[in-house]
Amino acid sequence: MKTIILVGGGHSHLHCLKKIPPERENVKWVLISPSRYQYYSGMFSGYTEGIYSLEETRIDLESLCEGSGCDFIESTVLSIDPDQQHLLTEKGDIFTYDFVSFDIGSRNDSMEIEGLHTHNLPIKPNYRFPEQIEKLYNSRKTVFIGGGAASIEMALSLKAWKMDKGCGEHSITVVHSSPLLEKAGSFSSKKMREVALSKGIDLHQGRVKKVNGTHVHTDKGEILGYDEVILLGGPKAPQLFGSSVLPNDEEGFLMVNSYLQSVAYPNVFGTGDCATLQDFPNTPKNGVTAISQGPVLWRNLTGAATGGKIIPFEPQKRYLAIMSLGNKRGFLTYGSFSLVSGWAWRLKNWIDVRFVGKYGE
Ligand SMILES: Cc1cc2nc3c(=O)[nH]c(=O)nc-3n(C[C@H](O)[C@H](O)[C@H](O)COP(=O)(O)OP(=O)(O)OC[C@H]3O[C@@H](n4cnc5c(N)ncnc54)[C@H](O)[C@@H]3O)c2cc1C
Repeated sequence: MKTIILVGGGHSHLHCLKKIPPERENVKWVLISPSRYQYYSGMFSGYTEGIYSLEETRIDLESLCEGSGCDFIESTVLSIDPDQQHLLTEKGDIFTYDFVSFDIGSRNDSMEIEGLHTHNLPIKPNYRFPEQIEKLYNSRKTVFIGGGAASIEMALSLKAWKMDKGCGEHSITVVHSSPLLEKAGSFSSKKMREVALSKGIDLHQGRVKKVNGTHVHTDKGEILGYDEVILLGGPKAPQLFGSSVLPNDEEGFLMVNSYLQSVAYPNVFGTGDCATLQDFPNTPKNGVTAISQGPVLWRNLTGAATGGKIIPFEPQKRYLAIMSLGNKRGFLTYGSFSLVSGWAWRLKNWIDVRFVGKYGE
């Protein structure tokens, strides 16, 4: 009997949990994740705005495990010893595996900005999200750091909530070092800038150098007061791999080959934000990538455990992304194309509700 341990209830692992047959055959499956719930980040904006309830945005991992032949352990994995094939959890338990797969996401924190770690609002791992949003609701001055989709979408959703609740005078600021949505091209960037300004978001171009208990300091000499500050400037590596002998990329993400295996330990797999593909290092770290890796991971974990075939993962060249702008309007991008419409939001809503619903059946 082989033991396969899934670490983290991320998107690729959800696919595997749905596939594991209820009757245990030659493989013992275990999922270790810090919360019984996996909160779906595609619906963070809608939850913030008050469109979705908490129940609508989360997947019950324990129930999903009960429905399949998988044991659920509610805990955080602190470290891995790939030579002994051991995992250590925060509760002090040691688990031995034949194969292990990491889909533990990333952090929204950084040690590179002086003082940020102490004052930042961490929403990752994603089970922290709901309690942190309460703090944003109460904040009169909120500063988002980052000009990408997550930062601007959260700023717009919070603004929509504040307007609805009569707190329109609460300031919401986005500090961005490069143009908004830079990766989507200059047309989309300009369009998003116009949308953000029209909704009353304060935009400040500059790089945050320092955060103290009351103010954010940028390299342009600006000093911005805040009640809450939140870094959403791109995923940062989980600490777990830094303390292991597993090869990482230069930012500390687990380095994997096209088969989603560690480049040094073929019985260690990694997907989603926490892993970097050696052959395609610029593959975006987002939910779309993590979801598309699910079927390949399933094939390769079962193939490796039973001596069967394993297959390579090929990232998509372009993908559809839809951000919520608030008030049920969406900003759709595909390559350098973009459009703003109510129809785009309805499409996003349909995709997201369907995704979460699939794992609640
Ligand atoms: C505000 C916001 C909005 C976003 N919106 C979108 C969007 O609309 N579309 C999109 O494609 N991307 C979006 N993203 C990016 C997206 O959240 C991530 O890229 C995506 O969640 C990565 O999925 P994952 O499977 O790698 O990890 P996650 O979804 O983060 O799941 C990781 C899992 O691992 C668990 N875990 C963490 N650490 C450990 C540990 N040490 N031991 C055990 N378990 C652990 C967590 O609790 C969680 O269950 C957004 C991000 C943010 C911050």
